Amino acid sequence: MDTVLVTGGAGFIGSHFVKRLLKADDVARVTVLDALTYAGHKENLGEAFLSPKLTFVEGNILDTALVSELVAEHAAIVHFAAESHVDRSFFEAGNFLATNVLGTQILLDAAHRHGVTKFVHVSTDEVYGPLPTGKADELYPLRPSVPYAASKSAGDLIALSYFQTYGVPVSVTRSSNNYGTGQHPEKVIPLFMTRLFKGEPVTLHGRGEHVRNWLHVEDNCRGIDLVLRSGHPGEVYNIGGGTDLTGKELTEKILRVCGAGWESVAYVSDRRANDLRYAMDWSKIADSLGYHPVHDLEEGLAQTAHWYQNHPERWAPLLRNPHAPTAQIRVAPAAL
Ligand code: NAD
Repeated sequence: MDTVLVTGGAGFIGSHFVKRLLKADDVARVTVLDALTYAGHKENLGEAFLSPKLTFVEGNILDTALVSELVAEHAAIVHFAAESHVDRSFFEAGNFLATNVLGTQILLDAAHRHGVTKFVHVSTDEVYGPLPTGKADELYPLRPSVPYAASKSAGDLIALSYFQTYGVPVSVTRSSNNYGTGQHPEKVIPLFMTRLFKGEPVTLHGRGEHVRNWLHVEDNCRGIDLVLRSGHPGEVYNIGGGTDLTGKELTEKILRVCGAGWESVAYVSDRRANDLRYAMDWSKIADSLGYHPVHDLEEGLAQTAHWYQNHPERWAPLLRNPHAPTAQIRVAPAAL
């Protein structure tokens, strides 16, 4: 575990995770491999660059030669790199399949060839699809509704198949919706906060009744760290324990921390394939690895709002062309 390759480490969750890893005494070297797509920013790593343990490599997980070279130099891999925005997956599903499925398989192949000691594949509760009632444990069927979730499901399955077929020590984490500092303002919490700080209205889909579980990014990172160190190969771990809220309830809380009122909210027609309710049972990671979230939602939202209010230089440039498509990724023939 002394050397760790983190893919997607310049993104939202990956950058929080890298900062956490760098503080650990038993981690000697962390390498970030990130293509710096529209969603990746070196600024997210900030003070991490002061650490002599960190190496940053700008590159694509679809680049088989680069991936092989880097994987050979590391004991463990934590794989965050992904196309992660559901709405974009409606318009550019090919990019989602390329990075989230083929990119994952390229990393797994390298992990198999070079005999890594641990491969953590970071995934999402969206793979379970909507649950009218009850909670999805790790054995619940995968019923993704949207191309993003389908590509993540396929990534999970190929990852687990490399454990079954070749014994690659893969563990999969599936977390609920993360929030915190440094998230791209296309995602709902920073989108609402940045609009409210600019004095613009925010829009609620449908009747605002969609239920999501909101997890502080540092709680998710703690869960992923536990899985990296003590998770069993071939196992899936749900990471939840945040707060279940309807869209309306979440909006109420965001309005409060941003000092705005309901006059700033407009209702719009529902997004396509908008799953009504996600709900996860995360007792496995709690019972087997001792995971417990510690962040309080109200405090976490206030801290997040404070950060967005004080760092317009980080998000304002990203709002200039919010609908710009991700650059099309070409898959080299050697990768096929
Ligand atoms: P993000 O979009 O903020 O970051 C993704 C990072 O991956 C970016 O830095 C981007 O440059 C990089 N990347 C994309 N394609 C790449 C490629 N082909 N090669 C190399 N790097 C590439 O995403 P996030 O919100 O930090 O999510 C990280 C992971 O966690 C993803 O796998 C996502 O599916 C999963 N996840 C996210 C959430 C959430 O609420 N954000 C919840 C559950 C699971």
